[in-house]
Amino acid sequence: MNLIQHADSPRYIRLHERDNVVVVVNDQGVPAGTEFDNGLVTIDNVPQSHKVNTVDIPEGGAVIRYGQTIGYALQPIPRGSWVKEDQLRMPSAPPLDSLPLSTDVPGRGEPLEGFTFEGYRNADGTVGTRNILGITTTVQCVTGVLDFAVKRIREELLPKYPSVDDVVAITHTYGCGVAITAKDAYIPIRTVRNLARNPNLGGEALVIGLGCEKLQAEQVMHQNDPSVDLSDEWMYRLQDSKHGFNEMIEQIMELAEVRLKKLDQRRRETVPASELILGMQCGGSDAFSGITANPALGYASDLLLRAGATVMFSEVTEVRDAIYLLTSRAETTEVAEELVREMDWYDRYLAKGEADRSANTTPGNKKGGLSNIVEKSLGSIVKSGNSAINGVLGPGERVNRKGLIFCATPASDFVCGTLQLAAGMNLHVFTTGRGTPYGLAMSPVVKVSTRTELAHRWPDLIDIDAGRIATGRASIEDLGWELFHFYLDVASGKKKTWTEHYRLHNDITLFNPAPIT
Ligand code: CA
Repeated sequence: MNLIQHADSPRYIRLHERDNVVVVVNDQGVPAGTEFDNGLVTIDNVPQSHKVNTVDIPEGGAVIRYGQTIGYALQPIPRGSWVKEDQLRMPSAPPLDSLPLSTDVPGRGEPLEGFTFEGYRNADGTVGTRNILGITTTVQCVTGVLDFAVKRIREELLPKYPSVDDVVAITHTYGCGVAITAKDAYIPIRTVRNLARNPNLGGEALVIGLGCEKLQAEQVMHQNDPSVDLSDEWMYRLQDSKHGFNEMIEQIMELAEVRLKKLDQRRRETVPASELILGMQCGGSDAFSGITANPALGYASDLLLRAGATVMFSEVTEVRDAIYLLTSRAETTEVAEELVREMDWYDRYLAKGEADRSANTTPGNKKGGLSNIVEKSLGSIVKSGNSAINGVLGPGERVNRKGLIFCATPASDFVCGTLQLAAGMNLHVFTTGRGTPYGLAMSPVVKVSTRTELAHRWPDLIDIDAGRIATGRASIEDLGWELFHFYLDVASGKKKTWTEHYRLHNDITLFNPAPIT
């Protein structure tokens, strides 16, 4: 990375030696006529995080960032221009039938020994970073009653059980009025089932249903499953109430208290860093995401993998255009083929809705300097670091191995977060350039800003400022190590993230590609 460093002089970042566009990093951007140290002169006003071309680009010429083509010039672009979306023709998505499969597999990094955190060991062998009572639901009909009960549980019961961090209602919009036998219904159903098994919930099963709904409690909880404890009465249906609302609340509180007592007995113990299951995501991205925050996550991801942990990355529409860079890194051709299968499934899913991958980018992304989904993807996959990809999970599937895992999810923040919780993550990290107060109730969420300006504006929402990489105050390596240690401290409960501090969280949002009736 070529970084021109002087606090107030015009500065840009070039990520790859082949790049013919660079990104302006000055807070206020640079005006037309600005001369950079190496003689490049801008002919337009260029805002921060937007692109300038360092050479004349002819009509039809490739615009190159991250060493890859992000578009073709629709007209000649003279050197020093502000390079924007409307000047570019987007390359077509890489065809799925001619991808390099497992051709360039990175070797294993030197093992990192001796790193630990303080976690809650579960009966099924997983480890929680928090000790939370989760209450599963089979249908949206029960949400109002359960939310009422949870408020009382939090106020009246939780203070009696100080080792329990929280109580969370796993409410959702599925369960009835849905085509429950449709081909793709397994996705929301297994998601509800696996959410209840998240390591941060301690294996205490409790399901609240209505009674007449399509999704039945037995479909989300199974006897003989070591990940949930069904030894106590584990289900309550509101329609069994003979004495109205108050009886429902009393029943739910009684069932909850049995579990709170058990959860309160648990103590943290020292476990190896390999028990961490980190889910990575980005949202509200800008052109800095791929320069600062995502490369830092990638560095920290490589460290975690060297320590033997599980690291998941996701967001199909944000890897689709760079898929050739991932299939080549797959540990085996089988893993590469699973990646291709997930891309193909999603291409068909989007086609059914007469949409394509270009539907991903938002107005905010574009204002932040991301021209199109190709550029966004290249910046997004940087999160996955430089390690081999060891496995692939379908949406809602639970992870059952260590290593670097592609967990196939939509890019939508809350849907991706929900599916990573179902996959079993016990810690979440989220990078943002434009800024979002996004959070999750079942897992700590580490928020990383791509720009220092955002970290200064939102000091009480951003946990780590990766913008320091752009200003030369920290290297990717520095930030990577800082994140690695921060992950372990948060996992241990020694540090709390801002979203935990305020209990900010988004709703559980299931991915339901099947019809609603
Ligand atoms: Ca996202």
